[in-house]
Amino acid sequence: MGDFIVSARKYRPSTFTSVIGQKSLTETLKNSVRTGRLAQAYLFCGPRGVGKTTCARIFAKTINCFNPTSDFEACNECESCRSFNENRSYNIHELDAASNNGVDDIRTLTEEVRIPPQIGKYKVYIIDEVHMLSSAAFNAFLKTLEEPPAYAKFILATTEKHKIIPTILSRCQIFDFNRISIKDAIEYLQYVANQEHITVETNALNVIAQKADGGMRDALSIFDQIVSFNGNHITYQGVIDNLNVLDSEYYFRLTDAFLRCDISASLLIFNEILGKGFDGNHFITGLAAHFRDLLVSKDPQTVQLLDVGAEIGEKYKVQAQQASAMFLINSLNISNECDLSYRESRNKRLLVELSLIKICQLLDEKKKQLNELEIPPLKPINQDKSPVNQRDTAIVQTVSPTTQQAAAPQKSSENQSRLTSISISQGMPPAAPAAPQTYPETPTTAQTAENQSVEAGSLENAWKEFAQTIPEEVRMVNFINANIPVRIAENEFEIVVANQLLEKEISALLPAILDFLGKKLEISDIKFRVKVDENIEHQHVMTPEEHFKAWTSKNPALLKLQQSLELEIN
Ligand SMILES: [Zn+2]
Repeated sequence: MGDFIVSARKYRPSTFTSVIGQKSLTETLKNSVRTGRLAQAYLFCGPRGVGKTTCARIFAKTINCFNPTSDFEACNECESCRSFNENRSYNIHELDAASNNGVDDIRTLTEEVRIPPQIGKYKVYIIDEVHMLSSAAFNAFLKTLEEPPAYAKFILATTEKHKIIPTILSRCQIFDFNRISIKDAIEYLQYVANQEHITVETNALNVIAQKADGGMRDALSIFDQIVSFNGNHITYQGVIDNLNVLDSEYYFRLTDAFLRCDISASLLIFNEILGKGFDGNHFITGLAAHFRDLLVSKDPQTVQLLDVGAEIGEKYKVQAQQASAMFLINSLNISNECDLSYRESRNKRLLVELSLIKICQLLDEKKKQLNELEIPPLKPINQDKSPVNQRDTAIVQTVSPTTQQAAAPQKSSENQSRLTSISISQGMPPAAPAAPQTYPETPTTAQTAENQSVEAGSLENAWKEFAQTIPEEVRMVNFINANIPVRIAENEFEIVVANQLLEKEISALLPAILDFLGKKLEISDIKFRVKVDENIEHQHVMTPEEHFKAWTSKNPALLKLQQSLELEIN
């Protein structure tokens, strides 16, 4: 191995056709060669290692070739081509602006431009990292760029197009290079491996391509690094260990655990990952990416957004079929939230674990809902029940378990007797009254009646009866059915709602409520108020319709059940 040549150089494409992942762009360049309509200056933009300099060199070689092929590629045989391939052509000049960014460097170059080519037609000047030129150098260069001799062609390359001044941009034909897709990178790595007689596992190449993040040159350097380390047989495990990459297998296993609602397994897998020295934040962003990949794999239309090798792509498709889109979206949300709050969190490990538990519970909740749906108890619970019990008996619950719910019981126990909170068909989180909020002054009217003593049971009955008087098309029917007001004084009643929208809707019914209840309960001077609990609003409580819509889209069986039992939804 005395004369080891790095793969990126050894396998540098020598024709437009062999350039990886830039097909439309190389076609355009070839076309301009064919038609002879060459621009004076080109600007090649794009990430590092995607073939900008390579294309510039091929272009220079091709326009100087004495014998272009019928396909308008360089022949690689004529004297000009050979001098190019052997790096001894005088018709190509490369300037790395990253290290030669002064006026003097540009001046040397512009003097050079004045000398016409000895052999061949064009002199090509490649200025790499052109955004690094000092502004004085830029200005000195501008002159040359404005009126270059016909034989001079400029190819400016940059990774940061936005740093190029408009006067330069306007004088160049601009080409935007793509990142190399994982699939293309794998294919090329496979080609190189075959040429070098190296056996590889496809999954291993996938890891390399992912690590290179769209750069072919990087992919090839990593490849060399692995070969020098592992010899002529590249295994998936070898690459994972060598690059210290978090094995995507973990994410597949984790997702399996989530789908089984297996909290213990998910926590153990996370522990294993931490044990390998991976950072929790790295893990959680990887998990989010995994959910994203699963989500795009679900839909034939979006599956093209999945940028992985074929073999692992199949794994994604299989796992995607096992998970519902709703589950994936919710999981993606949870992991994303975890990522966002990771930096501020004091107990980072706990934060991640909590997120894993939440994801595990996503489907568990659904199961619970389904179990309970088998018994259709559509009887509203009374206000004495503790919020915890109410949660248990709730038919339908919020889709994602939130921390607020866990915190709610404590808070609401303080004055639960004063509040109507969750209801069966509503599935709203328990009302969590914090410090008394502003009580909107609601109009009260008086009704004459003799008897003012009323039992709690009859309030409930009266309320139910009232609910029946409301026309079905009124959106509040379901809410009223499910939420019973609380009696807070002899002639005073209160109902707590989650948001101002509900408040408005209930308030609109107030005259009817007062009238009906006053008569039914035989209370004169009856007062009824609607209280908005900002806390609940903050928790973003969905309206019944929204809830039901979310559940049915997740589980069509709910809709069937609702129809067969003739349950009412607004
Ligand atoms: Zn040639």
